[in-house]
Amino acid sequence: MNERREYLEGGLVDVGCETCGIPVRAGKKSTMQTSVQWSGPACARLAEAAGGRPTALVPTCPHLRDSLDRAVREGRLEVS
Ligand SMILES: [Zn+2]
Repeated sequence: MNERREYLEGGLVDVGCETCGIPVRAGKKSTMQTSVQWSGPACARLAEAAGGRPTALVPTCPHLRDSLDRAVREGRLEVS
């Protein structure tokens, strides 16, 4: 696991899934790529989709994606 190192280097910001209430850190390496890291349990729906296995850094919870899109529009999440 190198998530802490990525956090230190990645310029991630706290966003969180507004529907699930799960805090996450997110960062954009480009306009098309968003990295998401969970400090605790992932979104309920994301954990469900993963079947209990560790997930890749892909925000498949639709609500989390909405939250990330909103963060980008509001300027809270920018390409680093
Ligand atoms: Zn969610």
